[in-house]
Amino acid sequence: MPAPFQHDSKRVLLLASKLGYQTRSFGVAAKKLGVEIVFGTDRCRKLDDPWSDGALALDFAQPQRAAEEIVEQWRGAAPGAVLALGDRPTPAAAYATRAFGLRGNPPEAVEICRNKLRQRETLRAAGVPVPGFHSFSLDENSDRVAAQIAFPCVVKPLALAASQGVMRANNREEFTGAVRRIRALLESPEIRVTREGALDRYLVEDYIPGGEVAVEGLLSGGELRVLAIFDKPDPLEGPFFEETIYVTPSRLPESVQRAIEACAQEAIRALGLVTGPVHAEFRINERGPWLLEVAPRPIGGLCSRALQFGDRSEKMTLEELILRYALGLPGSGLAREKAAAGVMMIPVPRGGVLERVEGMSDAENVAGIESVEITARLHDYIAAWPEGSSYLGFIFSRAETTEQAEAALRKAHAKLNFVLTARLPVEHPVTGRVQR
Ligand code: ADP
Repeated sequence: MPAPFQHDSKRVLLLASKLGYQTRSFGVAAKKLGVEIVFGTDRCRKLDDPWSDGALALDFAQPQRAAEEIVEQWRGAAPGAVLALGDRPTPAAAYATRAFGLRGNPPEAVEICRNKLRQRETLRAAGVPVPGFHSFSLDENSDRVAAQIAFPCVVKPLALAASQGVMRANNREEFTGAVRRIRALLESPEIRVTREGALDRYLVEDYIPGGEVAVEGLLSGGELRVLAIFDKPDPLEGPFFEETIYVTPSRLPESVQRAIEACAQEAIRALGLVTGPVHAEFRINERGPWLLEVAPRPIGGLCSRALQFGDRSEKMTLEELILRYALGLPGSGLAREKAAAGVMMIPVPRGGVLERVEGMSDAENVAGIESVEITARLHDYIAAWPEGSSYLGFIFSRAETTEQAEAALRKAHAKLNFVLTARLPVEHPVTGRVQR
């Protein structure tokens, strides 16, 4: 059915749950390109103008309805593109893209990516190497489940992100403890309020040993172009899996990088994704790459700042590259800069109230460090993983080699001291349990 819309390539709809670095960076890129950005958000749906900037108030938990609302509320010609930041708005963006008759991913493919179980099922059926998995109801007796599974395993909720609620269990006792924690997390008001689907089940996967990488890519006609492969040099062996260091270019041998690329391409084809940004995570061991996850969105939040494209005269951010690609403007073919770059997501050593951060200027003065951004709010409680999902902040480095970019991050991190007061006993705001 032909779309009844005229398209206005000077306006882009950007769906996001949070205002932050990435929305601002899109704003900067849009200004440079003479494009207007209209935001859509599910924050404060009861307000007409949640961000006081004309943003559309939407409900991302009902993506088809959100797309209908977008079309109803949209005035004038359809936007030139609809983009999503973060996992949550990706289905709404896909339905809206289709409703406007724009080039986009099939909403069905995007919905599969939003559910860790459906994604695993789709990829396993297509023969893509994924960890062995089973899913169970949270109502099932976890002692009985524990008797059926092999250890070590990884236990995770189906719909959360940023490793929230993801835990390794090495034996039955750890397993039942992990399921108890997932149950409490999913029952917490903070998660309930998101009205994510799939809150009644969890996944149990074989623990895949090995190193880990993240791949940032751009799809065109279903073909993957790798923008960057990030090594994750810190061991991610559990029991929890908060991220730390990402560095690029990868130091893995060319042949391994090609195998990762081929595995990513296979997964993308199996899922049915065809266009726009993708972010994927892999484990690598002697049996080759294992796909952990693919998402039809760019790398999250501040981390994208580690990516710069072009050199000298023509430099652009990931957000500008994505915008140019989405609008069919020239320049989206630029390769990543020659320099090595890194970002460290500063882990939360233990939950507590962040009273102050010491050593900022020493950390900023480390050679190769571009910036240190503390994103946690002072005097607020910050939860550690697995209940937590926000980092204390981010450190960025640029250097000639990947080794130097990594060393600078470690050196800067060592200069920082986060004063977190435990105020015993602290009642965890998510689980309600008393933490020590
Ligand atoms: P999220 O989407 O919340 O980040 P993932 O499923 O990607 O959740 O898991 C987060 C992290 O947990 C991964 O990056 C990896 O380090 C670890 N992990 C997840 N599943 C496995 C697994 N089956 N084997 C080993 N590690 C895993």
